[in-house]
Amino acid sequence: MKRIGYALGGIVLLSGLLGVASATRHDMPIDWGQAVSRGAIIAAALVVFFLVLPRWLKLPMQIFVAMISGVLAGWGFKLAGLEAFAIDYVNIFGTMFILLLQLVIIPLIFVSIICGVSGIGDPRRLGSVGFKAIGYYMCTTGVAVMIGLMCVNVIRPGAGRTDLQLSHSAAAQAAEAEQEQPSIGRVIQEDALPTVINNPIMAGQNPLAVIFLAILLGGALASLGGRAKPAIEVFKVLDKALIQLVLWIMLLAPIGVFALMSKAIAELGIEYVSSLAWYCVTVVAGLGLHFAFLVVVVVFVLARVSPLRFLKGIAPALELSFSTSSSAATLPVTIECTSRRIGADENVTNFMLPIGATVNMDGTALYQAVAVLFIAQVLNKDLSMAEQFGVFMSAIMVSIGTAGIPGGSIALMPLVLRQAGIDAQYIGIVIGLDRFLDMCRTLVNITGDSVGAIVVSRSEGAEIAPRPERE
Ligand code: ASP
Repeated sequence: MKRIGYALGGIVLLSGLLGVASATRHDMPIDWGQAVSRGAIIAAALVVFFLVLPRWLKLPMQIFVAMISGVLAGWGFKLAGLEAFAIDYVNIFGTMFILLLQLVIIPLIFVSIICGVSGIGDPRRLGSVGFKAIGYYMCTTGVAVMIGLMCVNVIRPGAGRTDLQLSHSAAAQAAEAEQEQPSIGRVIQEDALPTVINNPIMAGQNPLAVIFLAILLGGALASLGGRAKPAIEVFKVLDKALIQLVLWIMLLAPIGVFALMSKAIAELGIEYVSSLAWYCVTVVAGLGLHFAFLVVVVVFVLARVSPLRFLKGIAPALELSFSTSSSAATLPVTIECTSRRIGADENVTNFMLPIGATVNMDGTALYQAVAVLFIAQVLNKDLSMAEQFGVFMSAIMVSIGTAGIPGGSIALMPLVLRQAGIDAQYIGIVIGLDRFLDMCRTLVNITGDSVGAIVVSRSEGAEIAPRPERE
């Protein structure tokens, strides 16, 4: 009873502060009516996600409810003209959740690869897992891009859409609009929170460099034999501690996911979706086909694991990747789902998933190919087979270099566009819809990573069986 009292007190205080902040405008008196109504919206969300839902539902179901209610709330905010409130204030919880997840990524990549490599131990076995991982990444990413090219050539969503040629200037206008004075909520999200929630150890490290060092160090530890045992034990305990940290952070997942979804919907230009509907259908159809290929052909036929069991096990990671649009932020949960809920070999999972989240992005590769061909179609530029092959190759290369963060693809799309002989400014044609498609492709990215760990575990003779409890 006492705890609920404290929780309610905290909720009232926090939502009151945010309500007042959101009703404060530069050079104007505070609008108290707005402060109370907005504070009440935040308080209601906090009560539902912290006090009510955890009593009745397990975490994956709570996240699911949060996703659906986030979509509805985002819609409501849009209809009520409260987009700025959703983006600047409600999303404070989403930003906090993502920052917390990001806090553990680099240490987790480091520790988990050392555990995986030293656990596999035998250099021949390590070589075999490594080769299979690379082979799997190349083949599935290649299949993804082919599916994308097939869909965009069959559906031809950009044919006859010369009207879109002007929309790249819309992106420039949006960028100009961003220059206005930031609200208190935006300052909290962009300056205050990252100052505190920011990994002091190895902050700003490039994950590829961390992976490289971890593989070498893990191999060196394994080569020391018995003498390295205490050190390996320390890394194993650290690995468990990091996963424990993730489980704590996941307590914020429902409110975080709710906030991220409502922001995404409030931000999404409905006009954009309808004008680019066929493009959207093409990307989603391609991603859907590739998802089906991974789950049916690879999981069921090759790894002999029931697709239903796989989907049930991976569900929390799917929900999280969809709402965060970040395979890096989802990594801790993907590891937990793949090794414990689905039951792939722990060492293979620890080794492959951090690498996969960094270099294996099937959804991203497919998306790059579809987006670039779509832009070419809008510009009335028919790409020959040889040019499409160039797009195929560069989409694969670019997907390897893409960071597992929201909008990671956009930064590298100019490289693929250049391959097709298109000016980078035409990215503006597809940028308005990127947020939604990012959610879908990130989900496929993490599915590809998890499936890879399962199929390689199986090929190494491991039994795929769920481990209900962490020892
Ligand atoms: N958001 C994607 C991911 O994290 C990367 C991308 O933008 O394609 O996997």
